[in-house]
Amino acid sequence: MAKSEKEQPQNPMAFDIDRKARKPQEYYERIKEKFADERDIRLAFRPEGTDQFTTDLTGDLAKYAIDPNAEELKPREKLTDTVECLFIGGGFSALLTSARLREIGVESIRIVERGADVGGTWYWNRYPGVACDVVAYDYLPLLDEMNYVPSRHYAKGDEIYGHCQSIARKYDLYELAVFQTTVTSTLWDEDEQMWNIFTDRGDQMKARFVICANGTLSKPKLSKIQGMKSFAGHSFHTSRWDYDFTKPDLSGLADKTVGIIGTGASAVQSIPKLGAVAKELYVFQRTPSSIDIKNDWPTDPEWAKKLQPGWQAIRRARAMAEPELSAAKQAKRDAMTQEEKVQRQENANIDAMMRIHKRIDEIVEDPETAESLKPWYMLMCKRPCFDNDYLPIFNRDSVHLVDTKGKGIKEIREAGAVFEDEVYPLDVLIYATGFEVQKTGIYNEIRGVNGVEINEKYKDGIRTVLGIHSHGYPNLFIMGGYQATFRFNLTDVLQSQGDHIAACIDYARRNGHHAMDATYEAEEHWVQEVIANRGKTTRAADCTPGYYNFEGQHQRRQDGNFNGSYPSYIAHAKDVLANMKENFEFTNPAASG
Ligand code: NDP
Repeated sequence: MAKSEKEQPQNPMAFDIDRKARKPQEYYERIKEKFADERDIRLAFRPEGTDQFTTDLTGDLAKYAIDPNAEELKPREKLTDTVECLFIGGGFSALLTSARLREIGVESIRIVERGADVGGTWYWNRYPGVACDVVAYDYLPLLDEMNYVPSRHYAKGDEIYGHCQSIARKYDLYELAVFQTTVTSTLWDEDEQMWNIFTDRGDQMKARFVICANGTLSKPKLSKIQGMKSFAGHSFHTSRWDYDFTKPDLSGLADKTVGIIGTGASAVQSIPKLGAVAKELYVFQRTPSSIDIKNDWPTDPEWAKKLQPGWQAIRRARAMAEPELSAAKQAKRDAMTQEEKVQRQENANIDAMMRIHKRIDEIVEDPETAESLKPWYMLMCKRPCFDNDYLPIFNRDSVHLVDTKGKGIKEIREAGAVFEDEVYPLDVLIYATGFEVQKTGIYNEIRGVNGVEINEKYKDGIRTVLGIHSHGYPNLFIMGGYQATFRFNLTDVLQSQGDHIAACIDYARRNGHHAMDATYEAEEHWVQEVIANRGKTTRAADCTPGYYNFEGQHQRRQDGNFNGSYPSYIAHAKDVLANMKENFEFTNPAASG
């Protein structure tokens, strides 16, 4: 283990419920009331919930979707061929699953990707400061297979993107890949027992297996702000950073007044870089993020040299294991009521948040700005951020925090952004307003057996096995959607899913089955598991609105993650593989005609 890795918890959700409260209970109750007040203020300002945003980046908004990294679209032949495995999307999901498919001998693999290269999130997000705040030795997939040790404890975006390209090269994934192409519909042909895949480039391809690997946060979203089209300056979304305008070293902003809307994880990473160069920077904040210490360092070459083959797999296995409690601790927990457990967890969470508040007071010199930067919600209501440069940047005279106190920016004029009748004149406006959450893991039209569109099937709730298989959609696998497990390190989840999918395909191939479809019973069993494990607290509803809780909108219990433990999800997946005949209906080539 590299130096002081213990300092930052791998899973910031894990609070020690055995710890005694540090303050009287009234103290925690008062803070919880403040949390509720701040949440209510925000809910009142955005009754539209998720409808406050748009992802329809067409017409006047089309410029926000343009890929600044791709060359102009060149005409190409329409594809009408057949492959064995087709991935919709070319990010981590596709790459790490493809590696497993190669290991079992699958030769015909096609990635269809909207971007001009593989990489997904790491292809699109190239804003200044982009990095991953999950430890790189865990986050970057296939480190054993690639014989690669990341250069830092927290890898920067370009290294992660480069790693994606290296995976694609090592596993020969460029050969059949099609870029700058968006899948528009995926239709099951019952006679041929094959999928037909249509794209926006006029392709009509066939595939035996389709893997939806299109990511959960892929579509950039914009807040619907009155007058945004009238802005006379330059504007773009963080995931489409315009380096032609800013210049790679951001020197193009040195004589500019820059505004940024949003203070989520993307903004937190880019604001220190912007603040360091822009003539003036205005940060329009609706809700502050929680900012903790980032313990980053270059990888110690001596440590890296000592790593034995298979080191990442060992780390993963360790991270996956349930923490073992001593008999005494277990007995203590067993003796607690559910209410007591929840209270202890909440109190520990509040202590963590107050530590984050204290750090703000220590770093930010202006007391009013410091107060505005304090997040008033439980940790993990929003994605926690880790950054050492974010808070100090507000000590610069050229960096201004515009605290909209939960209201947000509602109006933009030709000259700039407006808050409480004051116009903030801007040359550049950057939207750090995030991405649409894809609950189902599926963006395009997918029609399975009997032509049923999968969203029609889901209209009364998502129905899957492990979040991966859905009855009536043979040979279709979904990655990164709901009803799967949740981990702070997303690649843990994706790797588990990729391993499972490759094992299913291997089983079908080895046993001479052409198609496999999860049974209704297997699906019903999993839906009930998801519902039973959704927890008994009102935590999501108590949280301040954000994309984690669909802006405070009510969700059906099955439309969420599987909240049993990660080891329990893995055990369920193993169980499915061990009992394939009970969980799937198979179609053999002879029967498929
Ligand atoms: P987020 O959805 O997290 O943040 C959007 C921001 O825009 C919020 O601060 C939101 O405020 C604000 N906002 C929206 N509308 C308005 C408005 N009208 N006026 C003012 N503010 C507004 O998007 P990000 O791109 O920052 O992050 C998305 C996710 O990407 C992260 O949560 C994380 O999962 C991932 N990511 C991960 C990183 C990593 O290191 N692992 C780094 C960067 C991103 P409010 O909070 O009030 O809704």
